[in-house]
Amino acid sequence: MSELHNLSVKALANLLQTQQVSAVEVATRFLARMGGNPHNAYLDIDSEVTLAQARASDAKLADGTAGPLEGVPIAHKDVFVTRDFATTAGSKMLSGYRSPFDATVVQRLRTAGMVTLGKLNCDEFAMGSANENSAYGPVQNPWDTTRVPGGSSGGSAAAVAAALAPAATGTDTGGSIRQPASFCGITGIKPTYGRASRYGMIAYASSLDQAGPMARTAEDCALLLSAMCGGDIDRDSTSLDMPTEDFAASLNNSLDGLRIGIPKEFFGEGLSADVRAAVDSALREYEKLGAKLVPISLPRTELSIPVYYIIAPAEASSNLSRFDGVKFGHRAKDYTDLVDMYKKTRAEGFGNEVKRRIMTGAYVLSHGYYDAYYLQAQKIRRMIADDFQNAFKQCDVIAGPVAPSVAWKFGENANDPVADYLADIFTLPASLAGLPGMSVPAGFGAGGMPVGLQLIGNYFKEAQLLNAAHRLQQATDFHLQKPAGV
Ligand code: GLN
Repeated sequence: MSELHNLSVKALANLLQTQQVSAVEVATRFLARMGGNPHNAYLDIDSEVTLAQARASDAKLADGTAGPLEGVPIAHKDVFVTRDFATTAGSKMLSGYRSPFDATVVQRLRTAGMVTLGKLNCDEFAMGSANENSAYGPVQNPWDTTRVPGGSSGGSAAAVAAALAPAATGTDTGGSIRQPASFCGITGIKPTYGRASRYGMIAYASSLDQAGPMARTAEDCALLLSAMCGGDIDRDSTSLDMPTEDFAASLNNSLDGLRIGIPKEFFGEGLSADVRAAVDSALREYEKLGAKLVPISLPRTELSIPVYYIIAPAEASSNLSRFDGVKFGHRAKDYTDLVDMYKKTRAEGFGNEVKRRIMTGAYVLSHGYYDAYYLQAQKIRRMIADDFQNAFKQCDVIAGPVAPSVAWKFGENANDPVADYLADIFTLPASLAGLPGMSVPAGFGAGGMPVGLQLIGNYFKEAQLLNAAHRLQQATDFHLQKPAGV
């Protein structure tokens, strides 16, 4: 079993259910690999907690009360609050914070039997595209440690790519599951807005935030997504009261006649040649599988950048007002009065990017600017969603690149936040529309770095997306490639 850490969630679940391996054995293997915290992927590890959960799983496997994913380890992005591990959201503001409850997603995965390996590094409050905005240091890309892993779920993507966890949770507000999955050569899906409960997910931009799984294969993502999703209407009013769906059940449907829309705006000037080549070859693979490529247009693609970077900061400026040094988290040591305490606490607790967004958000919401920025952005957001509905009259699934380039080198964009914003161009439209989207390994580009293919589906068509991704993975082996030494 020397390759235990390279097994899929599905394979591990099978071995555990048939008791060919114990949950403690599996957890021990991953904990050993996590020693020394390679790539700075984890923010909190507690082997006692993990092993206690694994022992409880072994007891359930022995007495026949095991859940479907009993004993399979998973690690959580540090944006999900957890009772048994600290939660910081990558911010100094929440250093050492412990939640009195588990996020719904965490709790659901525990109910399915999964064992928690720890908490994963991310950009502060999930704001970023490179994991360079974490207060606890950047995460390295396991394919090339001089490059970023993507963001904001950079720790999640790096942990799966480096086999420091067989699966991870991520959150995606404007691309934070898809883009790091693409940069690290793994598979990730952001479901339709409302599929997964946001309860216990530290809020960034509430009208966009969604949770989703990151793993090696589409099949694993299907198993995990089924376990994660489900109505939670009493605790998250935007969660959809829909029955749990068995996404793995529809993984072997034929792609014969599937119409794949190719938005011309996703293949323009800004797309680098290496990414285009990998995406094109994946599309040719789809043609071989019986799909038909249909040219489509998403005319407001470019506008998604200013629209997102108005709406997301606006919501963030409101959501982050709760970090005031009173209820939880950091409080400045020396202050003269209440206002001084607020000011110093927030000045010390937040990093530069978070401050930039709070200020932008407060500005676009302020009297006199609200109509010109926020209201206008909301209107264009609606038009972007309408563009997708027009496109879905001609196609079943939309395909294109996840990002314009492969993972960049550390520091390349560090003093240029706008460069990072622009790199989000292909993931923002689906986020603004609330549509499900995923990243599927599609080959390699410059520097041997992974390239992801983005698949976007209509509302609630996750099963169709996962099936399309799974079929590609049956025909290719990009998702099985590993960084050196893993
Ligand atoms: N890169 C985008 C941002 O910085 C998206 C982040 C996310 O999806 N959480 O806001």
